[in-house]
Amino acid sequence: MTKKQFLISLMVFVIILTAVLFFIFKPKKAKQVIEKEIIEEIIPEKFGIPLTGWELLEDTVRKGDYIGGILNKYGINSQQINEIVKMSNDTFRTTLISVGKTYTIFYDTIIDDIPQAKIFVYENSKMKYTLYDFRNPDTVFITKSMKEIDTVTNTASGIIEYSLWQTMIDNGYNWDLALALSQTFAWTVDFYSLQKQDWFKIIFDEYFVEDERVSLGEIKAGVFYHGGKELWAIPFMQDSVTCFYDSLGNSMRKTFLPAPLEFTHISSRYSHARMHPIHHKVTEHLAVDFSAPTGTPVYAASDGTIIVRTFQTGAGNYVKVRHNSVYSTVYMHFSKFGKYNVGDRVNQGDIIGYVGSTGWSTGPHLHYEIHENGKKIDPLKFEPPPAEPVDSIHMDRFNQEKRQWIDNVNKISLPN
Ligand SMILES: [Zn+2]
Repeated sequence: MTKKQFLISLMVFVIILTAVLFFIFKPKKAKQVIEKEIIEEIIPEKFGIPLTGWELLEDTVRKGDYIGGILNKYGINSQQINEIVKMSNDTFRTTLISVGKTYTIFYDTIIDDIPQAKIFVYENSKMKYTLYDFRNPDTVFITKSMKEIDTVTNTASGIIEYSLWQTMIDNGYNWDLALALSQTFAWTVDFYSLQKQDWFKIIFDEYFVEDERVSLGEIKAGVFYHGGKELWAIPFMQDSVTCFYDSLGNSMRKTFLPAPLEFTHISSRYSHARMHPIHHKVTEHLAVDFSAPTGTPVYAASDGTIIVRTFQTGAGNYVKVRHNSVYSTVYMHFSKFGKYNVGDRVNQGDIIGYVGSTGWSTGPHLHYEIHENGKKIDPLKFEPPPAEPVDSIHMDRFNQEKRQWIDNVNKISLPN
């Protein structure tokens, strides 16, 4: 290395060193930090009105009270009361109040011991209220609003001793939770054959207004131990619809056969008025008659339990299958029954009887009814709940979400 080269190298080194040192010990700008203290003054509100400057009077509507009478008592003039009456119509009731409901009067002046109402709030329900604003003496503003609703996620668990309802009550839960639980597991748990020591764990939402529970929200996920198996309800959204699936990704719902037999034609449809072929009277026919040759096998329309298998004058040999707490189906005029007896579980497609013409019947046919919550609905218009499993393209996402739900549900402990 020549002397010149050495000097250049030294210079380059010094420049780089200076630069590095500059960056390391970069002089900090003396920033004058003015920390503005943000004081968030929380002014308490009620019905969206900041409470500063107001006195409140709360009372309940008593027998014989009417809105004009209450308002008049608190200094509202008859002109403003008339306005309220004028504004009231079928969809926007402004005068209707009922006994026992709460109302609140906002006032800031008292004349002759009487608080002068400026705002009147009537609580239509736990969640809704109507606010009458009299601050402008020339007019009245009326608004209907919802109170702020808090969603709280809770858990519940129980071990069956006598019944689901009793277990809910014994563990201090609301009755509506038993109903929601039995609906969620309607297709997988036979609630009529619950056994001692069956158990459940669920995660669910509840709605609160001002710390008071107003209603049950939705069941989020859960497990029911029944018949020696853990039956899971896992929520999952595909194609923008959220349904419950079992742990394998099968729908918790079961489909119905479009028709429970191979038929030749429909001889009578669902109708509220038809001429009865035997009695020649106009009667209802809340069923479908499928014509088919005697001996044609009739299948259980969906999984369920045989709850009736008998002969009746009108129905002939007939069978009733309960599918879950919502749906049952009825099959009439059998020439003979299948091998299943009352209490037996049947799967969709199992033969429960054979077409015949027993009872009041003019020829071999199947009289078929679907009962939804005890009401006979039109089997030909019945759209059974969808029952597709999780699509294979969504399986990875399902398994991930499932793992989390199962972990969370398993954290719930059973009562002792
Ligand atoms: Zn019929």
